[in-house]
Amino acid sequence: MLPRRPKLTPTLSLDQIKQSHARLILSGDSSDASLVGRLLLVLALTPSSPPAHYPLSIFQSMPRPSAFAANNLIRCLARSESPVESVSLYASILRDRVNVMPNEHTFTFLLHACGKARALGEGMQVHAHAVKLGWCGDVFIRNALVHFYCTCDSTESAYRLFDEVGQSRDVVTWNAMITGLWRDGRLDVAEKMFAEMPEKDVVSWTAMITGYVQNGKLEEGLECFRKMAESDLLRPNEAILVTALSASAQLGLLEQGRSVHSTIDSLSFPITVPLGTALVDMYAKCGSIERSKYVFEQMRKRNVWTWNAMICGLAAHGLGQEALALFETFLEEGLKPTSVTFVGVLSACSRSRLLDEGRRCYKLMMEKYGFEPEMEHYGCMVDLLSRAGHIYEAVELIESMKVPADPVMWATLLGACKVHGLAELGEEIGSKLINLDPVHDGHYVQLSNIYAKAMKWTDVVRVRGLMIERKASKNAGWSLLEAGGKVHRFVAGDRRHERRLEIYEMLDSIERRIAEAGYRPDTSSVLHDIGEEEKENAVREHSERLAIAFALMVTRPGERIRVVKNLRVCADCHEVTKMISKAFGREIVVRDGSRFHHFKEGKCSCLDYW
Ligand code: ZN
Ligand code: ZN
Repeated sequence: MLPRRPKLTPTLSLDQIKQSHARLILSGDSSDASLVGRLLLVLALTPSSPPAHYPLSIFQSMPRPSAFAANNLIRCLARSESPVESVSLYASILRDRVNVMPNEHTFTFLLHACGKARALGEGMQVHAHAVKLGWCGDVFIRNALVHFYCTCDSTESAYRLFDEVGQSRDVVTWNAMITGLWRDGRLDVAEKMFAEMPEKDVVSWTAMITGYVQNGKLEEGLECFRKMAESDLLRPNEAILVTALSASAQLGLLEQGRSVHSTIDSLSFPITVPLGTALVDMYAKCGSIERSKYVFEQMRKRNVWTWNAMICGLAAHGLGQEALALFETFLEEGLKPTSVTFVGVLSACSRSRLLDEGRRCYKLMMEKYGFEPEMEHYGCMVDLLSRAGHIYEAVELIESMKVPADPVMWATLLGACKVHGLAELGEEIGSKLINLDPVHDGHYVQLSNIYAKAMKWTDVVRVRGLMIERKASKNAGWSLLEAGGKVHRFVAGDRRHERRLEIYEMLDSIERRIAEAGYRPDTSSVLHDIGEEEKENAVREHSERLAIAFALMVTRPGERIRVVKNLRVCADCHEVTKMISKAFGREIVVRDGSRFHHFKEGKCSCLDYW
């Protein structure tokens, strides 16, 4: 009878492989080198990686192991917990089994294992051996070497190899080199190399786009995406689209995000769960909660991250009740919340001042779902309690934390002390805060305002002196506005914009119109609370005011204005924006450092609480 040859396909589970192995033994084929080699191949490809001893024992039972079997064993070991063992295995094979000669695959797999273990020394030995055996002209091995050196942060060595090969490099070599340069933060070299590449594939574009985005160059990343989409030569993949959406979301620029969405539509790209989730997140972060909800409702399949994006989005827009209702539905559908879900839920409660709900959810999180609160959860609770006037309870909560509170929490408390007139506690917290976070000028301003309110003028002068001494104005405020297909960036007191003269004229006319409507700038306090914006610039020239003035010049009457600001909007600008929304009949959406403000008919969605 002919032996039953086991059918091996590369998608078998570990149990199925063991069954095939058993059949191989029963049929007496366990010494057939090619069958056992294939068994090792399937092991190297099985989704859950097997414990190292299993493939090793198979290999050791082979009377005459082949290079093919040895290579697949190296691949199995590369996936194990200590990938570098594949190098010791290689050494022992060379020592004991002289009939197994390494080939190009051996070196590729070994270098991959060394890269995974970030074992520079071992990898260099493999490199030396490949040179010695004359394998170094092979383009696969060269690519593996470039990739290995880049992974081990040895960009210089990788570059030397890359440079050395000249003719025998292909698109994979270039891609590996560009990815390595990005890892090393060598933006300029990566850009130059990308421009010089003779042929670019999807991997090359992915490397550039994610490189920009991960290095915080969001606008450049989107520009690169646009070029790729316009070139029509290649179809972007899901990873590129998700990255482009996340860049738009981080920037908060709706037009940019919309254009990525229309690219997705024009490619008839299926809305997968990651892509749909990225769209929900992008629309929420770019201020269009309506579109965000629409995409969410249209999605046929969602996962917990989709729900998290929607709940957090609703929370950021101050739609607390809606966020909580959605959370209820989420639980009814039998989904299990993650710690991020509770960040969304608790911030929804704190932003909408839902004290009892917040307390209930906080308890639910710990008691039913067993999550230890993290910094963000504490932050939301401190915010919630202190806004509701339970400041001592908030202090107790901070003191019960196992990790030291971050300065933002103390700053929240400080703000609450000012609102609720708790001068003594405020002084205590304020002094603590300026020591914890000495470069943040907002804390000095808050503290001096508390002193001013308590008529302690010497302390006011002292804190002001400290602020100047410590040069606290580190964070410069900026605002972004999209108009006419361009992104306009404004900083406080900006004099660089090409239409600056008209902008400042517009600012004057805005002031006249809102003064007619009853606006009086707040000059009662000695220290005007100009918050986190640069000190030397007057409040009237804060970046968002310049952006709004410009928007009124260049947008159609009645069109909604969207501004993205990096810092929290100050009280005076908040008031002025409310007045503008009424006097000019415009809806204005401002995304500031912590939330969204929808200004309409003289009111703001945050109910003056931010
Ligand atoms: Zn301001
Ligand atoms: Zn507001």
